[in-house]
Amino acid sequence: MPLHIEVITPERRVYEDDVDMVIAPGSEGYLGILPHHAPLLTALGPGEFRVKKGGSEEVLAVFGGFMDVREGRVTVLTEAAEHVEEIDVRRAQEARDRARAALEAAAPMSAEDIQRAQAALQRALVRIRVSERRHRRRGE
Ligand code: ATP
Repeated sequence: MPLHIEVITPERRVYEDDVDMVIAPGSEGYLGILPHHAPLLTALGPGEFRVKKGGSEEVLAVFGGFMDVREGRVTVLTEAAEHVEEIDVRRAQEARDRARAALEAAAPMSAEDIQRAQAALQRALVRIRVSERRHRRRGE
């Protein structure tokens, strides 16, 4: 029995397929999900979402949200998700530098702005890390 997986953001369905296994960035650490996994509802942290199917692996970056596992279905609802191939590394580097500059600037920032910049920095760092890992793997 395969595992049916859907990854959905407010903008689009990023991924949908029948797969063998999912490794998801749970808020408390990475979780492996096989078919027949017990029902589970968990928050996701930002990180690498790996999908294994017939000896190949797909990698997505996901940014928070929730994962629902039940009866052979995995549904991920997340603010943003990208296939590793879709990640624009230069854009992520620019977002990282912008967020760091805002956080390091002498100008006072509201708590809300600090939180926003920290979240943007975290998203950018995940994008850069996920895409670097893929290039390392490819180089093997
Ligand atoms: P930026 O400041 O570059 O817009 P962001 O972290 O603010 O980055 P998000 O709010 O996380 O962007 O995402 C907005 C949309 O842009 C989402 O659809 C997301 O998938 C996409 N996106 C953001 N950054 C990248 C990237 N580096 N490569 C590909 N898609 C991206």
